[in-house]
Amino acid sequence: MKKTLLRPAALTAAVIVILYVMCALVPGPHGGARPSIGAGSGKRILIIDAGHGGADGGAVSITGVPESAINLDIALRLDQIMAFFGVPTLLTRTSEELDYPPDATTIRKKKVYDQRRRITLINSTENAVLLSIHQNTYPDASPHGAQALYAKTEGSKELAESIHRALVQALGAKNVRLPAKVPERVYLLNYAQCPAVLAETGFLSNPADEALLKTDAYRLRLAVALAAGYLSACTNEQTGGAS
Ligand SMILES: [Zn+2]
Repeated sequence: MKKTLLRPAALTAAVIVILYVMCALVPGPHGGARPSIGAGSGKRILIIDAGHGGADGGAVSITGVPESAINLDIALRLDQIMAFFGVPTLLTRTSEELDYPPDATTIRKKKVYDQRRRITLINSTENAVLLSIHQNTYPDASPHGAQALYAKTEGSKELAESIHRALVQALGAKNVRLPAKVPERVYLLNYAQCPAVLAETGFLSNPADEALLKTDAYRLRLAVALAAGYLSACTNEQTGGAS
């Protein structure tokens, strides 16, 4: 995984996010601003969850790239963009290496320990919003595109819809699938008590998606879209609007 992140492109990314959010906030033909996700009394904290990591590499792409590395790279880029906007963030991991207790002797035990560690962090954070980043995979090579999956908690669907709109802007409608409810087997999203969205940013089993996901430019574009989608949904809180 590359250690070099945004730096030269960071300012450009921030400008794109600002432009997108400004457009998204223009009232539609029927008047009224876009809905925001709930009216928290404090400033929202964005928890950026790079899926998998450590003993769990997640899916493997058709050329052998582990999902965990792509997720982490997009998560770190998103974190840098959010810093420009003064959005407080917490990352569930910042490295491909994870520490485990001595009794976590199998991969299964390590995964269970890690998922519990993440959910404890999420549910002990006040005013949290969870954005989990993953890549999709399928036995057939044809499915492609990004998708925002939402949890059952209040505000999750609105956040997924906002991220969907930003992904459509960034990637084009043909490469974005409609928002959907997250499957019950996804532990973090089903136990998170805050607004929560899982972004599947592409298919590692699709040659075109996989080739794009290996490039810095595409990962940056995804991070920009996630940032813009989050900021559009949470603008009332992030701009300090008294609510
Ligand atoms: Zn995954």
